[in-house]
Amino acid sequence: MVPGDHLTPLTIFYVSPLRRCNFKCSYCVSHQPSITDTLEWHRTEDRAQHQQVVEWICRLPYRVRLRLGSAGEPFVSAAYLNSVVRLTHSANLEFVEVLTNGSWGTAQFEKFIAECDVRKLTLWMTYHHSEITLERFVAAAIQARSSGATVIVHALLFPDNLKAANALKEMCSKHGLTLHVGLGLNINNAYPEGSRVPVLDQEDADPSLLALNVAFPAEVYDLVASPRGAPCSAGHNYIYINRRAEVHQCNTYAKYYPSLMLGSAANPDFVLNLRTDTYYACGTPERCVCVEDYQHLQLVQEKQRIVRPSVIASSLEEIG
Ligand code: SF4
Ligand code: SF4
Repeated sequence: MVPGDHLTPLTIFYVSPLRRCNFKCSYCVSHQPSITDTLEWHRTEDRAQHQQVVEWICRLPYRVRLRLGSAGEPFVSAAYLNSVVRLTHSANLEFVEVLTNGSWGTAQFEKFIAECDVRKLTLWMTYHHSEITLERFVAAAIQARSSGATVIVHALLFPDNLKAANALKEMCSKHGLTLHVGLGLNINNAYPEGSRVPVLDQEDADPSLLALNVAFPAEVYDLVASPRGAPCSAGHNYIYINRRAEVHQCNTYAKYYPSLMLGSAANPDFVLNLRTDTYYACGTPERCVCVEDYQHLQLVQEKQRIVRPSVIASSLEEIG
């Protein structure tokens, strides 16, 4: 038996305080210009606090499936990469899924991967069409896959990148790379004439490309818009940690109900007490804010069958 296999699974979505990025995407979810290529962390104490969170996760008596996001790019920070290495070697980690833009250098990647337990590493690689060439991005994905890591190529569809997204789709098909397609949001009003999902404004958008969008059935989105009272397993088999190390039952509760935080992962004495009942009625009168959260609605949980070491399903078949 692999160490940790007997433990109960727990999914964690941790958005760390790393803020430095080498790209300048206009639609950056971290809201340009808060992204910077000079400051690595939001506050001076963040680097140490991030290490505390990592060690707290490594001590959890659960089989952890970790989605590790940030407001920046992991491969610009040696300290951050070291924390990923540490996580991959933790016995209780089933996998750590790192969100990256794939802009690493070949030698840098080789050094990093040599230090990891690559069997536990998943790279969620988002293609940013304005910042990196398709050839360089796909070469990075192939390098990562050849190293033994799980690779999921993520494409966001925008009005001005449909040709590039199609080319990416073809390259993924040619090289056998797993592709996840989502619809880009109009963050920062990057598309001034656009609606919230600007690609849907395009009459000439390739329907075969739009059909790749990993979208849940409409009834799920109806519930996501107004989840109050709906059974949800957040707080039982899923938690969210924000960049201040606050542990919440989900991202939505962190946003709207900060006072209901479960504790601080930076506090070595904090013991996580998960709810014993699998499902509990959601209490928010607000919208549920992200897929990491709302895939814990009972309506989704009972149909979803993720087949890769990833927190997010990459195909329509996996979400029923
Ligand atoms: S790669 Fe990600 S974090 Fe960096 S600017 Fe683009 S969207 Fe923002
Ligand atoms: S439905 Fe969303 S907001 Fe409600 S508890 Fe579940 S994850 Fe949290």
